[in-house]
Amino acid sequence: MKTIDLRSDTVTQPTAAMREAMMAAPVGDDVFGDDPSVNALQAHIAAITGKEAALFMPSGTQSNLCAILAHCARGDEYIVGQNAHTYRYEGGGAAVFGSVQPQPLNQDAQGRMALDAIEAAIKPDDMHFARTRLLCLENTWNGHPMTDAYLQDATQLARERGLATHLDGARLFNAAVATAAPGQSALARVREIADLFDSLSVCFSKGLGAPVGSALCGSQALIERARRIRKMAGGGLRQAGVLAAAAHHALDHHVNRLADDHALTQRLAGGLQGIEGLTVRSAQTNIVFVDVADGRGPALLDHLKADGVLATGLIGLRFVTHLNVDAAGIDLAIASVRDFFARAPVATAGARGNGPY
Ligand SMILES: *Cc1c(COP(=O)(O)O)cnc(C)c1O
Repeated sequence: MKTIDLRSDTVTQPTAAMREAMMAAPVGDDVFGDDPSVNALQAHIAAITGKEAALFMPSGTQSNLCAILAHCARGDEYIVGQNAHTYRYEGGGAAVFGSVQPQPLNQDAQGRMALDAIEAAIKPDDMHFARTRLLCLENTWNGHPMTDAYLQDATQLARERGLATHLDGARLFNAAVATAAPGQSALARVREIADLFDSLSVCFSKGLGAPVGSALCGSQALIERARRIRKMAGGGLRQAGVLAAAAHHALDHHVNRLADDHALTQRLAGGLQGIEGLTVRSAQTNIVFVDVADGRGPALLDHLKADGVLATGLIGLRFVTHLNVDAAGIDLAIASVRDFFARAPVATAGARGNGPY
């Protein structure tokens, strides 16, 4: 039985062409700066994002960590979303390794922190307070591309108040493909968003389909500080060119095809619409969230698994599309969900209330 793995866009297999590119990659010791494939990738992603320099990273977590520690010193503080990946899902690394205090703020359903909340969280220059140094945003947020208006307003506020700005752009290419103006290329759109930030981290290992790797992009000075921190964190890799070649191949061949993943997201959301007991909460770029009534999320996951369909969650389930999923797989997932609710329909309130207890 074929597995339809919708747990994450991190589960992709390198394509045959990507493996060819990896095989053919010239390599050297990157700690000495000798790896031509790493250097080429770094130059390429720096050019795409319009930054002076870039640094290849083993993971997005390490990339964000190096960014925060390169922007902030011990005793400094960064403002970040309460549910942002950098704050909530990276083990508290900035605090643990850098003694950088997070100032988490609530976010709305699109991942936005209110501007007045950001403003109020910026501490005055007073010995009682940590020094507020950095604003960190995330795009896409749970699949939502951030609006231009918010990105501009939030980064402008940060600049006016003397804060640096960092974007966790793990899925920035999804955001760019989804929000490019008619006739505008996805890469031009990436550049437009990147221009608003001092630094950004992008993942090659998510929708772009590379097996490993992220990049931190920023000024030469920031990247040199980040390089020291990356070494401390154990991220100085040697013949990393085999991995950089995969990421480079992904940039050349897998950006525009993200539109296919987004179309599959809409196909899935459309197929799940109107099932009693299940609500499609959001279907943006390559991620669908559904809420399952009556605590039946885990049972639905088990049912899907028996049909070879994998997803994650408990009450809210998450389905992520990517380059190893096609329309037939999505249709199979929809059929499996419909079958689950058809076999054991949602109990009506009356039936629940009149049980033989
Ligand atoms: C996946 C992800 C990261 C970190 O990436 P890893 O390579 O898994 O460490 C950071 N931010 C967001 C929003 C992500 O989705």
